[in-house]
Amino acid sequence: MNNGIFVIGTDTGVGKTVISAAIACGLKAGRINIGVMKPVQSGGHAGGDAQFLMKAAGVSDSFDLACPYSFKPPVAPALAAKLEKQPISIDKIKESFKVLSQRHDFMVVEGAGGFHVPIKDKYLVSDLATELGLPVVIVSRLGLGTINHTLLTIEACRQKGIEVLGIVFNQTENKPLSVTEKTNPGTISKLSGIPVLGVVPYNPSLRAIKGSEAISVLRKIAKKINLKPLIPAFSRKGRRSQEQNQKLKTWDKKYVWHPFTQMKDYEKEKPIIIEEGKGSYIKDTDGKWYIDGISSLWVNVHGHRKKELDDAIRNQLNKIAHSTLLGLGNAPSVELAKKLVEIAPKGLSKVFYSDSGSTAVEIALKIAFQYQQQTGNTRKTKFVSFVNAYHGDTIGSVSVGGMDLFHKIYKPMLFNTIKASAPYCYRCHLGLKHPACKLKCLAGLENILKKQNREIAALIIEPLIQGAAGMLTQPKGYIRKVRELCTKYGMLMIADEVATGFGRTGTMFACQHENVTPDIMCVAKSITGGYLPLAATLTTQQIYNGFLADYSRQKTFFHGHTYTGNPLACAVAIANLELYEKEKLIPKLQGKIAFLRNELQRFHELEHVGDIRQQGMMVGIELVKNKKTKLDYAYSEKIGIRVIKEARKHGVILRPLGPVIVLMPPLSISINELKTILDGAYKSIQTTC
Ligand SMILES: *Cc1c(COP(=O)(O)O)cnc(C)c1O
Repeated sequence: MNNGIFVIGTDTGVGKTVISAAIACGLKAGRINIGVMKPVQSGGHAGGDAQFLMKAAGVSDSFDLACPYSFKPPVAPALAAKLEKQPISIDKIKESFKVLSQRHDFMVVEGAGGFHVPIKDKYLVSDLATELGLPVVIVSRLGLGTINHTLLTIEACRQKGIEVLGIVFNQTENKPLSVTEKTNPGTISKLSGIPVLGVVPYNPSLRAIKGSEAISVLRKIAKKINLKPLIPAFSRKGRRSQEQNQKLKTWDKKYVWHPFTQMKDYEKEKPIIIEEGKGSYIKDTDGKWYIDGISSLWVNVHGHRKKELDDAIRNQLNKIAHSTLLGLGNAPSVELAKKLVEIAPKGLSKVFYSDSGSTAVEIALKIAFQYQQQTGNTRKTKFVSFVNAYHGDTIGSVSVGGMDLFHKIYKPMLFNTIKASAPYCYRCHLGLKHPACKLKCLAGLENILKKQNREIAALIIEPLIQGAAGMLTQPKGYIRKVRELCTKYGMLMIADEVATGFGRTGTMFACQHENVTPDIMCVAKSITGGYLPLAATLTTQQIYNGFLADYSRQKTFFHGHTYTGNPLACAVAIANLELYEKEKLIPKLQGKIAFLRNELQRFHELEHVGDIRQQGMMVGIELVKNKKTKLDYAYSEKIGIRVIKEARKHGVILRPLGPVIVLMPPLSISINELKTILDGAYKSIQTTC
């Protein structure tokens, strides 16, 4: 499957740019996410060909990406670079191409001059076409001499092993066609076996025409070109008609009950239905692309449709989709368990699978409880959890939750837990300031543990940051101290790393920031790179041993979900973790985290931004009605929801937590894409609040 074309001319001045622009324009009209590139341009007056191409494709990429090198002198690139003393880096060109092709489904790359024109030293346009791995579309002049030029170009492509998709003939002079000109295309096609994609009649200089008018001319030209052979297979198949799309929207409201969504409001709105993704972007059924600012609810790591992950699922599918772990093993679950233990905080050595964060937490609670029962601590039956905690939506995980909004109504159904207050430095319940406070909030926790430790089985905590509560970050040293207290007072520590795990905070697991090993660790969300539901609860050998006994003593852990250790999910999780290493994901995150930190500073200028909290790639921006008094917006004002609706207009998908705007992009995101999200969020807050 090709994901783009490289447009070359048989010569300079054949109208390569106009044809490239028309192709981009035509494909875009067919709802394909088009990117354009003019790697090097010379004779580039203000913006030049590259700018024109970008306009035709309607892209908002930065100019430097679409055109890494733009020179004034109207000579071959290599010479132009020399004259302007700006050396060309082929690596930079290739890197820009990579970034753009991750962002777009289909790239239209326009070469410079003819096929064998030098870009740098002995490196030719033809070398670049070869390296980018794109098939070629040849633009030829319609006049005399074209047979020779076109056949030579085709021959050169064949020598380099480049596929030629077709030829577009462009009439470059405004006069009636002679017999030669009329028959040339047919002759060339017959001699070369390459199809003619179109013969484009003469057009006056398009650059003289302004804005939207140029686009309509380009659309007309595109109609003269057969674009079908260029269109990648995936965009052709499975496309729905307008009418079918409308039905989807109707049925969505009629049949689907959306989670955490007031359906009375939803039923009134125009739903957005996502049908495709690529890199950091997702596309709805209307063909609109959005940047995925919350990694599809905190799960996506390497972007959408990541080849290695797609392949991992396909390969596994060729073997088996599912087999049970109840008394049997399966290959991917074994390999993944080994990998998880290798990357987890030292000391965690057993992996129990399930399928969501909530079940991973249920399992942790049941293991902790049963472990205490089976090791002579029968009085230890209670759990300590934190105010504002979120551990999932099942009854056990709600019991250890601490968010009134989500949890209050279920109170009569829940088991009792001991609630400790958690850090929320912006609204410190002790009225103190960090770091002068010296973590005084821990004293309250210690008091509880000191008094009640004989009846406490375990403490459960979201390390470093309480996510769903609104990205409430814990001060440095906090989690280390909690670990020490759990040890001191003889209870198990359960770390819920469902949100923080797999690099979100800048280390593989949040606990590793402070060298903490919990007794039990829950992971889910990012474990499959955002592909399939899978979760795991990791424990120490000591806990595991507490379940080993003669069969008749019934110390077995009687728990297991039907799809536990699903091979497809485990296979994609393995591929996900391999990519962390291969792409040096975590080392590369550090620059992005710093960029985020810097860029977030300017949000403080906004009148209603009360607090900005960041832990690695997890960000919460808390909006307040009054910055001085920290007065909240009323719940009914739906401030968060209004801001994220506004952000959609800027092409950014976000999801708030009450009045907190969350930014949690895929970890593979580029700096430029981060900027898009930040700009979208900034403008949306500015106009809404
Ligand atoms: C999302 C989340 C959960 C629940 O995970 P699900 O897969 O939605 O059940 C549990 N704990 C934390 C910290 C989470 O962020």
